[in-house]
Amino acid sequence: MNQYYIGPSLSDPEKAFQIEIHLDIPEGVSDLFFPYWRPGRYEPGNFVKWSRNLVIQGEIESLNVQKIQPNHWLLKSPAAQRIKISYEWCFHELNAGSSFMSSELFYVNPVNLFCFLSQSEQEEIELLIEVNEGWKYAGGLPVNWQQDKKRWLLKASCFDQLADSPFAFAPVISKFQWISEEVEFNCHSIGQLPMPWREGDYSSMIQFTDFQVKMMNGFPVKDYHYIFIFTPHRMRHGVEHCNSTMIVMGQGDVSDEVFYDEILSIASHELFHTWNVKYCRPKDLLPYDFTQSQYSGTGFITEGITTYYGELMLWQSGVWSWEKMANCILDWFNIHLNNPGRFSSSLIDSSIDTWIDGYVKGTPGRKVSIYNEGALLAFLTDVFIIKSTSGKKSLDDVMRAMLLNFNTQTRGYTIDDYWHTVEDIAGAVPSQLISLCSQPEDYASEVLTALEWIEQKCRINTSESGRLEVVAIALQEHNKLSNRHC
Ligand SMILES: [Zn+2]
Repeated sequence: MNQYYIGPSLSDPEKAFQIEIHLDIPEGVSDLFFPYWRPGRYEPGNFVKWSRNLVIQGEIESLNVQKIQPNHWLLKSPAAQRIKISYEWCFHELNAGSSFMSSELFYVNPVNLFCFLSQSEQEEIELLIEVNEGWKYAGGLPVNWQQDKKRWLLKASCFDQLADSPFAFAPVISKFQWISEEVEFNCHSIGQLPMPWREGDYSSMIQFTDFQVKMMNGFPVKDYHYIFIFTPHRMRHGVEHCNSTMIVMGQGDVSDEVFYDEILSIASHELFHTWNVKYCRPKDLLPYDFTQSQYSGTGFITEGITTYYGELMLWQSGVWSWEKMANCILDWFNIHLNNPGRFSSSLIDSSIDTWIDGYVKGTPGRKVSIYNEGALLAFLTDVFIIKSTSGKKSLDDVMRAMLLNFNTQTRGYTIDDYWHTVEDIAGAVPSQLISLCSQPEDYASEVLTALEWIEQKCRINTSESGRLEVVAIALQEHNKLSNRHC
């Protein structure tokens, strides 16, 4: 069994991790890698740069070690044997995708600090963790305390599962638990709780979680963990995982209500990712390959649809008023109208380019956002389906069908698979909708047409308006703003 160890560094115990890994290698050549990137952030991570004093040794025979890329070593062994890899790992930024150590926090995203052998990625892993006795644990994998050795033991079925299971230890972690549709949901929080949670009120979290699980006809995993780290400084960051999400938030200069809305928005977005990307995944990302870039044009589905649903589910579940949803649509629209990048790069091309400038400002007017334009396209697709089926179907049906036909148990999907699914549900897909993601396009005309249709529909029969009622408000708002932005 592959065995990993992590604890505080002896020389720098409040800042750096000490890592030791024991792996079996065969006679001949093996490939040792440091993960190049992490799921949820489609850009090079180059996590190896935070390591130091890395030593690779054979435990029986001498080993020939040759570094051939920053994150790739060739190991040549004269015999099958167990090897030991030891190093320190130190990073000074606390975000939802990092690992961070301080006197009050031991927080690990395994994907950015553990090496692996490409030949034994599928083997079971035992992870031993040395942290202060008495600290509390939050994570997606079950953990056991070994009293005799005074350390924690965590098991993963393979490297992929370990990589997708962040965890944190801290002196105090508050925990709230509930059951929804036979799934155990947990909300773990480190740091100062947001306003309603201080009073023990988690009703909004339960409400949108229940709604999403029911809407998607069930949940792909048996237990789920929202893990929050609340920081004193401003921070907004969440990352999705197979049965958890890591969310790092700090208030900044906003009211309690605005801050709480932002928490709900991120949490709802990350929960929807459990279906849309963790379980129902593009072919380009199935399986994850941590050794190199995995380019995909599907960001408008993985992030765009998730951005749309993150907010939509809050409104549909009754957690948010429809004015709040309307403001989100308006924000997406205004960002689009203010970005000349819409004339330069398509949504699909911008998705492939996240690997070079997807998470930085970059060259002005060069690109669009898989989140922003992706959410607008999801909205337009939803309106199209509702309109063409007289309200009998919606994008919900597309997401449920995608989940049935394309998932980690069967196969990944392509962009064509997605549009074929829309066609199956709606009866047709207008070429203009496809063009909005494959060509540099201005969305204004389509968005305004959709909003106008909704406004008329709402006037005719408010009972039919459902989710779209909100957009009538958006239209009125847009009319006020249009002189400024169009
Ligand atoms: Zn996302």
